[in-house]
Amino acid sequence: MNEQEKINFKKEHNDRMRKARANIKPSNCMLCGKPITSFCNSHSVPKFSLKYIANDGELLRASVLADPEKINVSSGLKNTGTFHLICNECDGTFFQDYESEEKLKGELSDKILAQIAVKNVLIQLFNKKLEISYIRIFQNETNLFANFADYEATRQFDVNTYIKEFEFHKNIAENSISGGYQIIYHEILPYKIPIAFQGMIAMKNDFIGQRINELHNFKDLSYKIQHLHILALPFENESCVLAFYHKTDRNYQKLRHYFNSISRDEKLKCLNYLILEYAENYFFSSKIYKELETNKYLKQLSREANGRPDFGLLAEENSYGIGYKPVTKDDIPIFLSKEWALNSI
Ligand SMILES: [Zn+2]
Repeated sequence: MNEQEKINFKKEHNDRMRKARANIKPSNCMLCGKPITSFCNSHSVPKFSLKYIANDGELLRASVLADPEKINVSSGLKNTGTFHLICNECDGTFFQDYESEEKLKGELSDKILAQIAVKNVLIQLFNKKLEISYIRIFQNETNLFANFADYEATRQFDVNTYIKEFEFHKNIAENSISGGYQIIYHEILPYKIPIAFQGMIAMKNDFIGQRINELHNFKDLSYKIQHLHILALPFENESCVLAFYHKTDRNYQKLRHYFNSISRDEKLKCLNYLILEYAENYFFSSKIYKELETNKYLKQLSREANGRPDFGLLAEENSYGIGYKPVTKDDIPIFLSKEWALNSI
């Protein structure tokens, strides 16, 4: 792409994105049900944490790894990882127990974990709705998808699943139900990590090859994908790393037992890999741009989907994935380790 083509591409993308966002704007707040009069720019990763790794108010998006053209790779603090599903009042009150450094440093109650889970589901729900809306606009412009109805139906199934999961965790948060969540890792690291992430992921296999989710099970509509919630939040001179699941997602017991058998450094290595392999909603400090730009395994991983090359699109060009060697947790830099701490760069 030449410079003019890049500018045009970016403009078209931004136009579609603006329309897609407007199309999915809810009329009522998903948390309190009141009509929404003005948009609330809710942050998926809490803003208090993002600001610690922003440079001149800017952060790098995950797309810095996957996009060779480097379009839309940086993001201003105000609009980084935002979603629009709830009202201003709920945004300021519902998550207040967990959006605090002091609270995250202490013992984590089920109420706090439920708030984090609610936020994580809302992020997924918003992103999925946005994807459907964006692709619909794109399809209207290009008519590119032959089987668009199927494409839309599988995504709509995800939306319905997220709505059920949202109600489940919201109920726990509002009624202070305890005993449901299982923490597998929670530590305040004595250094500042260069990556910020909050979200939930669906692992295919655990680290010793045992199956956790059948990710391509589109036929069985009662099949429930199981989620792991992860937080990696930089503070001023420390960081909070947390991983937990709800006990109803019992396949993560295998991961919990594995975590009980490995060292702390190995746990950080695993969580680092899970974020980079499964998530999209993570942000980097621009201080590590050189590594992001040059590390071939990070690039390869960003194009990998569930262990398959090229976003899982198997074709003749990639030999249908035969012989493809997926990136492992040992190949990539461990941004959660002290070695990458921002204070020491
Ligand atoms: Zn509300």
